Amino acid sequence: MNDIEFRCGFVAIIGRPNVGKSTLLNHILGQKISITSRKPQTTRHQILGVKTSATSQVIYVDTPGIHKRRSTAINRYMNRAAGSVLSDVDLVLFVVQAMKWTEEDEAVLARLKEVKVPVLLVVNKIDKVGDKSELLPYIEKLSEMCQFDAVIPVSALHAENIDQLEADVSERMPENAPFFPEDQITNRNVRFLSAEIIREKLVRELGQELPYTTTVEIDRFEEGGSITRIFATIYVETRGQKAIIIGRKGARLKSIGSKARADIEKMLDGKVYLELWVKIREGWSNDERALASLGYTNE
Ligand code: GDP
Ligand code: MG
Repeated sequence: MNDIEFRCGFVAIIGRPNVGKSTLLNHILGQKISITSRKPQTTRHQILGVKTSATSQVIYVDTPGIHKRRSTAINRYMNRAAGSVLSDVDLVLFVVQAMKWTEEDEAVLARLKEVKVPVLLVVNKIDKVGDKSELLPYIEKLSEMCQFDAVIPVSALHAENIDQLEADVSERMPENAPFFPEDQITNRNVRFLSAEIIREKLVRELGQELPYTTTVEIDRFEEGGSITRIFATIYVETRGQKAIIIGRKGARLKSIGSKARADIEKMLDGKVYLELWVKIREGWSNDERALASLGYTNE
């Protein structure tokens, strides 16, 4: 018999784009594994991060945004993925931005009504609220709309009240032995993470100019000897987008490449050779087959 009961379970983080889900997850995990930026919809994958303590292990699932527009295949994929994640976890964190309530939040809330597991309401960005007494009526209004298991005001950016949130999460996990070895913070391999790093540099460099249909594919990933060689392709939809990413005399692509290489070297703790190409894949976001070939499938 074990003296100490160990808890382990799955937690979905859900909320409209830009409420701070990635920032929150990165803070909890203490290592950057997903992309944050001002531009919504940068998290395109379900990212599984594992946080292990002496008494619990929490497996966080960062769901892709739930999108109102469902015109293209990629939006359909993201909606399906978000739906299936919600039916397969022990707890849901519904993240909202303090004092803000939009139609998109409303759409996420509608999905939550079908959820059978407990939901914690995480009110993020409280650092932006000057008069904290305003929070109470805001929280009360939301609590009338849905039965939340608890409400936790936090600031993901300034690490306010995150310890409390983590405690509230851990105590709601079912009794289980840990599913992952203790030192494992992510089940994503370095190949995937390299693509994410390149994508993040693209987002940082191009901001609003970067179409969200842009994808990064790792063509070859060769580990060996003292250097890792990575060959990657950035897929865009138009000639104009390609020109923007490459920049004058290739300057922009070079800058993206060298910043990405520096971060990948840090992650791998070794030398990296990175080759980036930009290719046009016309209208691919409308093509389910192209999605599958890139690995965006629900199965
Ligand atoms: P996501 O789309 O929900 O994953 O949101 P992100 O984590 O990418 O965050 C969107 C933006 O909100 C970024 O610019 C973050 O720096 C910012 N942000 C996140 N959390 C906070 C917070 O607690 N306070 C403030 N002021 N900004 C935040
Ligand atoms: Mg995100």
